[in-house]
Amino acid sequence: MILCPLPNKAYRITQRYYDRPNYYKKYGLKSHAGIDYAPPSVNQKGVVVHAPHDGYVHSLDFGDKGFGKHIYITSLPYAGDKCRQSVLAHFQAVLVSEGQFVAQGDPVGIMGTTGDSTAVHCHHGYRTIDKGKIVEEDNGNNGFTDIERFILDWYL
Ligand SMILES: [Zn+2]
Repeated sequence: MILCPLPNKAYRITQRYYDRPNYYKKYGLKSHAGIDYAPPSVNQKGVVVHAPHDGYVHSLDFGDKGFGKHIYITSLPYAGDKCRQSVLAHFQAVLVSEGQFVAQGDPVGIMGTTGDSTAVHCHHGYRTIDKGKIVEEDNGNNGFTDIERFILDWYL
C-alpha cells in the first residue's frame, strides 16, 4: 500500500509519469519518471510531505540540481526480498535525517521548489528493489514506474 504524500486529497497533480519526454532527455530519461503533487493554492508555503510507505531514509541531498533537496526512503523487505523505494524531491526543508526509520504517513519534509522546478510541488518517484537490485532498471526511467493508479488517498 502506497499513500499519497499529501493527505486529505489536498493536492493538484501538475505532471504525470509519461509527461514531457523531450524535456527529460537531458536527464537521460524517457519521460517524467514520477508524479508531481502541488498544493491546492499555487506556491502555498509550509505544506508537509508525508512518507508514502515505511522505510529507512537515505541519500539525503541538499544540492540544487535536478531533484533539489530530496530524500530516498527504502522499505523493509515485503513479499520475499522486494523493497519499496521512493524519492521525494524539491523540498524547502527536510525534516528527517540519514538512516532514520520512518513509518508510513510520518512527516518527512516541507514542500518547496528547489532544484529543477518552477513552482512549489513534490515529485514522487517510485520503484522496486529486489535482492538489492533495481527492478526494470533499463525501462528508460531508471526503474521508476507509473504508480498513479495504486496511490491511496488518506485522511489526517
Ligand atoms: Zn516531477
